[in-house]
Amino acid sequence: MTEYRKPLPVVTPLERPFWDYARRHELRMQRCTACSRYRYPVSPVCANCDSDGYEWAQVSGRGRILSWVVFHRCYFPSFADEIPYNVAMIALDEGPVMVSNVLAPNDSLRGSMPVEVVFEDATPEISIPKFRPIDA
Ligand SMILES: [Zn+2]
Repeated sequence: MTEYRKPLPVVTPLERPFWDYARRHELRMQRCTACSRYRYPVSPVCANCDSDGYEWAQVSGRGRILSWVVFHRCYFPSFADEIPYNVAMIALDEGPVMVSNVLAPNDSLRGSMPVEVVFEDATPEISIPKFRPIDA
């Protein structure tokens, strides 16, 4: 594997399971055991009911593009080879919204476009959730 040069997450103990599951190419999120709402980003307490109980529930990995931007300037030297690249908000079918990249030509992106998660194995420890279009 060539050296990964882009920024990597600084994983806190609370977030560790999310990244451990991602390494296995499973997208799991905290689901409140009191009210069943999903929590994302990772949080010690449910924003809906204040419960601190949760389980790591597998989600479908499917969702739709809410919005996106295309970066044409090089803010991070490690991204230079990918300009122009997109950064998109993905609303998962289960509700949480993730910020990621859609692995598709920038001019093909559309609002509400259905997408599914794929995992980029960045390092031996970190696999990054990204998305690709689902063919209709
Ligand atoms: Zn709750």
